[in-house]
Amino acid sequence: MKRIERIIPQPVAPGMVGDGFRVYNYIPGGGNIDGTDIPQERISPFLLLDFNAEIDFGPSDRVRGVDVHPHKGFETITIAYKGSVAHHDSAGNSGVVGPGDVQWMTAGSGILHKEYHEEEFSKKGGPFEMIQLWVNLRKQDKSVAPHYQTITRSQMGKVSVPGGEVNVIAGNFNGHQGPAQTYTPIHMYDIRLSKGGSVETSLPAKYNTALLLVEGSAEVNGVPASEHSFVLFANEGEDISIKASENAVILLLSGEPIDEPIVAYGPFVMNTQAEVIESIREAQAGKFGVLE
Ligand code: MN
Repeated sequence: MKRIERIIPQPVAPGMVGDGFRVYNYIPGGGNIDGTDIPQERISPFLLLDFNAEIDFGPSDRVRGVDVHPHKGFETITIAYKGSVAHHDSAGNSGVVGPGDVQWMTAGSGILHKEYHEEEFSKKGGPFEMIQLWVNLRKQDKSVAPHYQTITRSQMGKVSVPGGEVNVIAGNFNGHQGPAQTYTPIHMYDIRLSKGGSVETSLPAKYNTALLLVEGSAEVNGVPASEHSFVLFANEGEDISIKASENAVILLLSGEPIDEPIVAYGPFVMNTQAEVIESIREAQAGKFGVLE
């Protein structure tokens, strides 16, 4: 059985990303995991996890969100639980990420985009619950052309488990493959359990593995984990057993670590400081394209 290294409670205070995302930051995109002495590398290839716990911003005629900004050297993954987000990017892509859907954007060599509440949702208001996750790319993949994958809930490998279901976003769950194409091996599951429901699986000991209790509480390998806590597994043992103590929504992340230096400066994540400085110059020089 995988040993639990640490259960990290919900961070004390949320921060705002633009005016549309009120997020608790669990994986910081540089430095230690929130409130701990656990270094960023310990959760590689995951770079950042911002959790917009459920909140109703209320109806608004002006859409909330984050205006045009760059990304380079990694991937951003938006997981919508409640509410809808619209996005536009400098490669000409746009779309809406609705409840249960995932947008997997590979920023690669550099892109500009903006992320907003979807217009109709914004007008009505209502519960909004979202995760944004950043996944690092190896040096060899940081220069790939930007692109993205739209993964609707219906496209995910859906697996029934006792008292619930697992939507496989990426990788493999007990023999069922998810749709996301990844540059390094990653398993990512959206787990939905009714009270008493359970999931058993097995993931490599050397993969960095964690889960977030998005809604509800559960026993994880026999240890109680409360709502909004982040359970980090040690790199020991393989088996995971989750039993929902109440209705629960859980995001499970597991990935092969990328054993390369991380130099992060805001939306640029490279291997060296010189590469970060070069990336800032490229963004300023308009090399990531144009977006109004
Ligand atoms: Mn962004």
